[in-house]
Amino acid sequence: MTLPESTNRIARATAYEGGVRAYAIEATRTVAELQERHGTFPAVTAALGRTAMGALLLAAATLKRDESLLTIEVNGRGPAGRILCSANGRGEVRGMVARPAVHAESVNGKLNVAGVVGTSGYLSVSRQIGEREPYRGMVELQSGEIGEDLAHYLARSEQTPSAVGIGVFVERDGSVAAAGGFLVQILPQADDDLVVELERRIAGLPHPTELIRAGLSPEEILGRIFPDGFRPLEGQGVRFHCPCTRDRFERAIISLGEPEVNRLVEEEGDDETEVVCHFCNEAYRFSRGEMLDILRKAS
Ligand SMILES: [Zn+2]
Repeated sequence: MTLPESTNRIARATAYEGGVRAYAIEATRTVAELQERHGTFPAVTAALGRTAMGALLLAAATLKRDESLLTIEVNGRGPAGRILCSANGRGEVRGMVARPAVHAESVNGKLNVAGVVGTSGYLSVSRQIGEREPYRGMVELQSGEIGEDLAHYLARSEQTPSAVGIGVFVERDGSVAAAGGFLVQILPQADDDLVVELERRIAGLPHPTELIRAGLSPEEILGRIFPDGFRPLEGQGVRFHCPCTRDRFERAIISLGEPEVNRLVEEEGDDETEVVCHFCNEAYRFSRGEMLDILRKAS
């Protein structure tokens, strides 16, 4: 599968003398690649895309080091099952969903994201920084719409009042036409009037996908949120990327141990053994000869 290099981006800014931090994202190509790789049906495409953009926005807001990884897991006990997306400090994201090919009846002509995600489970965020034990926070799902759930997580678990607006527009043929949104975080020094004013302005904005479809850049989205001006910080490119390699899968098979590898060799006979990466759907094939070699390394 070869796709054009993504030009998707995140813009960063501060406003109101540093009282507010904001991030806006355009990730249409990135979410389209997630859809193509996993063959998701429309409402699941939106759920996976929102989770992936949420991970990218939170990574941009909180990760500094290249080796850090931020993972959002959503499990609402709905038909799509568990959704997992990981983003790193370089703007690279990957994701998976347990059951990509499920539907939920549309509501008022809109994709029923909560209908595929479910509403009775949890959302968790974990950060892996270097070799340290990962930090993990969890909240109960509020709506199953992902954006609201992330805002709830940030307020509850990280004590940062935040507005999250993320959306994916899916065409009738199932392809992704627009994906984008924003994260606005209010820092402790901001006054209450500002909070009320920002909430009013954000509530009055068109849906994020309307802004993206109207051709607004991430900076222009920030301009709509802060018409009185903001201070831009360095932005970042974003793209789909899975770090899996044939070597990693070979090591993973070796780590299964001799009895399990032996079972695989006997089961496949002269056939190739195929392993598929859940994050990118790439298949890696190992011949019988290669499997016997792996068996020796596992012994
Ligand atoms: Zn992969």
